[in-house]
Amino acid sequence: MRTVIGLEIHAQLLTDTKLFCDCSADYFGKEPNTNTCPVCLGMPGTLPVLNERAVEYGVRAALALNCEIPERSKFDRKNYFYPDLPKGYQISQFDEPLAVHGHLEVNGNVIRIRRVHLEEDAGKLIHQAGNYSSVDLNRVGVPLIEIVTEPDIQTPEEARAFMEKLRQALRYIEVCSGDMEKGSLRCDANISLSEDDELGTKTEVKNMNSFRAVEKALQFEQKRQKRALNEGEKVEQVTLGWNADKEEAKLMRSKEEAHDYRYFPEPDLVPLKIDEAWKEEIREGLPELPDEKRERWADEYGLPEYDIDVLTEDKKTATYFEETVAEYSSPKTVSNWMMSEVFRVMKLPEAELENVTPTEFAYLVKLADDGEINNNTAKEVLEEAFTSEDSPKDIVEERGLKRISDEGLIEEKIEEVITENEDAVEDYRNGNEKVLGFLIGQLMSKTKGKADPNKAREILQEKL
Ligand SMILES: [Zn+2]
Repeated sequence: MRTVIGLEIHAQLLTDTKLFCDCSADYFGKEPNTNTCPVCLGMPGTLPVLNERAVEYGVRAALALNCEIPERSKFDRKNYFYPDLPKGYQISQFDEPLAVHGHLEVNGNVIRIRRVHLEEDAGKLIHQAGNYSSVDLNRVGVPLIEIVTEPDIQTPEEARAFMEKLRQALRYIEVCSGDMEKGSLRCDANISLSEDDELGTKTEVKNMNSFRAVEKALQFEQKRQKRALNEGEKVEQVTLGWNADKEEAKLMRSKEEAHDYRYFPEPDLVPLKIDEAWKEEIREGLPELPDEKRERWADEYGLPEYDIDVLTEDKKTATYFEETVAEYSSPKTVSNWMMSEVFRVMKLPEAELENVTPTEFAYLVKLADDGEINNNTAKEVLEEAFTSEDSPKDIVEERGLKRISDEGLIEEKIEEVITENEDAVEDYRNGNEKVLGFLIGQLMSKTKGKADPNKAREILQEKL
């Protein structure tokens, strides 16, 4: 049986202000209904003014998703009644969206993107104990892009992988925080099963608030439809809501209750024109995208695929790695240190990547790599540096942690050890080789463990 999945994603844009007014777009955690104005509350006589930055971010996202951007698009009113929508309509884009015909490659499969359009968010209902709900309009008018895929996704696992890849791209280009738990990235899915090439009846699944929920909810619905079809039942066109705690999807509404939004052009906004020059300017401003980066790293650094995947996961880590390798060009060594030690230390509450510059980090990696400090000392220095204001260099120098590999200095100390331990030296000369360990121990205590043990052994044997 063939499964076909299409996704509809809403991504909140990281602009300072809302889509059509100058209220802050950063509504999260604010006192309810304090982040509003007459425009986003839909008061009579107010007019929307389009936020240019939101359009720019929408174009960035569309370009990163390989879309075509028509010169002209327009805004429409999507009409419906709900208490979280004070105007009684949402300003969205219907038949002339911002962008069309994109794609994103996920594990070798090309998932086509039908459209990307701009729209404003609605408010929130807060369901209270007792039989009523409160309305919080702080989120009304926050800019969103809606991304709609073609039904090219074949499994629930692929839907999850698509969402992860999409989030990574949106975070790389810095247009969306991608936080699904906070609702800044949301996903609805259409899923249908069929025995042949014809598409089956699709159902819609909503309320998936994490990557795991996307996968689990679609697995649940896939199983439910398969069972129904195997038993000769008809799949009804319904909308289901995922309950992550119970791990089940419940009926929200049937086809009869489906909305008719009666879209019509927004009379208060002129059509949106995006000229070639601006589009190109935005394109040139795009950073290297994850796929390009992965390819380049494989060529330039020769790193294993696993390392590349882990280190390119987010842009900040990737940039940190690149800057470190620019200072100390031993990519695999730097990669090992980052994936084991830096990632471990970053889990500590007081750790900040910004506490250690790539140059300082490169210094420490090189020191350990050259054997100037031992690995365990390097790990301790690293942990302290990332969790404090002190640089690795300061810590190493202040505590005198560097290994002594200066032959002159080691020789000097060895002379002392020899004169202070005449009996042991005598034993060694008489053939008791075990005494060598004791003498090295003496040297180590004289140098507080910092003498390079290999060099020390070499010089000691020579002297004796
Ligand atoms: Zn406002």
